[in-house]
Amino acid sequence: MHTANRTTRPRWDGITKTNDESKFKHMNNQPHIVIIGAGFAGIECTKALKGSGARITLIDRQNHHLFQPLLYQVATAALSAASIAAPIRKVFSKRKDVHVLMDEVTRIDPDAMRVTLSSGKQIDADYIVLAAGLRSVYFGHDDWETHAPPLKSIADAIEIRRRFVSAFESAELIDDNDDRSRHLTFVVIGAGPTGVEMAGAFAELSRKALRDEYRRFDTSSARVILIEGQDRVLNAYAPETSARAKKDLEELGVEVILNTTVDEMDAMGVTLSNGQRIETETIVWAAGVAGESIGSSLDCERTRDQKLKVEPNLSIPTPPNIFAAGDIAYCIDPKSNEPVPGVAPAAIQMGTFVGRTIKSELKSNTTNRSPFAYRDKGSLATIGRNRAVAEIAGRRFAGYPAFLLWAIIHIYFLIGYRNRIMTMLQWFWQYVHYDRSARVIPTKRPEP
Ligand SMILES: Cc1cc2nc3c(=O)[nH]c(=O)nc-3n(C[C@H](O)[C@H](O)[C@H](O)COP(=O)(O)OP(=O)(O)OC[C@H]3O[C@@H](n4cnc5c(N)ncnc54)[C@H](O)[C@@H]3O)c2cc1C
Repeated sequence: MHTANRTTRPRWDGITKTNDESKFKHMNNQPHIVIIGAGFAGIECTKALKGSGARITLIDRQNHHLFQPLLYQVATAALSAASIAAPIRKVFSKRKDVHVLMDEVTRIDPDAMRVTLSSGKQIDADYIVLAAGLRSVYFGHDDWETHAPPLKSIADAIEIRRRFVSAFESAELIDDNDDRSRHLTFVVIGAGPTGVEMAGAFAELSRKALRDEYRRFDTSSARVILIEGQDRVLNAYAPETSARAKKDLEELGVEVILNTTVDEMDAMGVTLSNGQRIETETIVWAAGVAGESIGSSLDCERTRDQKLKVEPNLSIPTPPNIFAAGDIAYCIDPKSNEPVPGVAPAAIQMGTFVGRTIKSELKSNTTNRSPFAYRDKGSLATIGRNRAVAEIAGRRFAGYPAFLLWAIIHIYFLIGYRNRIMTMLQWFWQYVHYDRSARVIPTKRPEP
C-alpha cells in the first residue's frame, strides 16, 4: 500500500537566526549570506565567496543546477536530462561553509533582512543575493500554457519531447490524412535563440533521425513552422546573421513566418494575426519571459518585464545589502551604454562580481563598491548539424566553424566532468549515426 503523503515537505516554525544544524554550530557568529537561486549567477556567486569566512545558505526550488542553453536538446531527444543537470548538493559537497536548501523563497523582507520559504521556514541574513532568473510569460494568455508549454525546466523539456514523439506515434495509427497532417505539424512561437534551435532540431529529427522508423508515412512530410512577431529571426544579432540563420532553417525545411503574432490558440491549433489558421497539436512557446515574481517583494523599480533596476554595483537602492545578479537584474553596461544581455556569460560574470564584492567587504570591513562592467565574449546559436551562427569580437561567421565552436563552448561550461563526458559521447554518436536515442517518453501507470 502506498502512503498518501510521500511528497509532503516538512514545515518549519520560527526564525533561523543562527544556523542551528550541528555541522554549522562553529560558524554561528559568522556573517550569513543567503543566495536565492542556483542558476549560473547563484552558483558563481557561491564559488566566489569561497574563503570569505561567511556562512552561505543557497536556496533553490529545484535540487539541481540546470544548464538551460542545452535544454532544447533534451526536448528534442538529443541528450538525456541528467547530462545537463548537476545536483546542487554535489557541486558544493566539499564546501563546509555552504548549506543547500531545496525550497521556494516566497517572500523577502528587506527591512528585517529575512527570507520566508514555502515550507514556512524564515531565515535571517546579513546579505541577500537574488539570483532567481526569469519565468515564462504568455502576455495575458495564461491559458495558452496548456497548449504550448515553455522551455524553462527539465519537466518542460520532457513534456515537449513527449508531445513531439507521441505525435509521430499517433500519426502511425491514424488513417485520415488531414488528421495525420495535423499530428505532423509542429509550431514554435518566438524566433530567438531557443525558438530557432528548437525548430531546427525538430526539422532535423523528422527528416533524418526518424526517417526509417515509421511504415505508414514519410516522416519528412512533417511541417515545422516558426512564428515570429518581428521582421527577422535572432533579432538580437546583426541583420546578416539573422538572414543566414533564416536561410539555414529554410534549407532544413522549416517554414519561417515573420511579422506575425498568434492571436488565438486552442487544443487543435493556432490562428495568426494574418488570419491564417494552422492545425496542430504540438506547440512550443519560446516567446516571452519576465523576472521571477519574488523580485516584487523588494522596494526596487522594475522594468516592464519585471527585471530589477539595480545600482551600477548590482545592489538594489535600499537596503544596500541586497544584490540582484543574472537575468533578474537590469543594469546598463557603462562601456556600451546598452543593457547587459540576459545570457549565461553575463549571469556568470554578475554572480562572480557580487560574490567578490561581498567577500572584499567582509575582509576589509568597508563598503567601497566598484561598478559592474560586462565583458561581451560574443554570441552563438546553432540551427542544426554543421549549421550555426557566431558573432565574436566584431567578427561574424557561420557553418561548421561556428557549429564546432558552439559545441566546444557548451561542453566547457557544463558543470561536472561526468556531464561533459556524457554529452561529448552522446554528440559524437549522433554525429556519426544521426541517432536520437533519448526518446523514451513517460506513459501512464496502468490502473490497478
Ligand atoms: C531554453 C533556453 C535556452 C538558452 N540558451 C542560451 C544560450 O544558448 N546562450 C546563453 O548565453 N544563454 C542562453 N539562455 C539564457 C541563460 O540560460 C540565462 O541567461 C541564464 O540561465 C541566467 O542565469 P541566472 O542564474 O540568472 O538564472 P537561472 O539560470 O534561470 O537560475 C535561476 C534559479 O533560481 C531558481 N529560483 C527561481 N525562483 C526561485 C525562488 N522563488 N525560490 C528558490 N529558487 C528560485 C530557479 O529554480 C533556478 O535554478 C537560454 C535560456 C533558456 C531558457
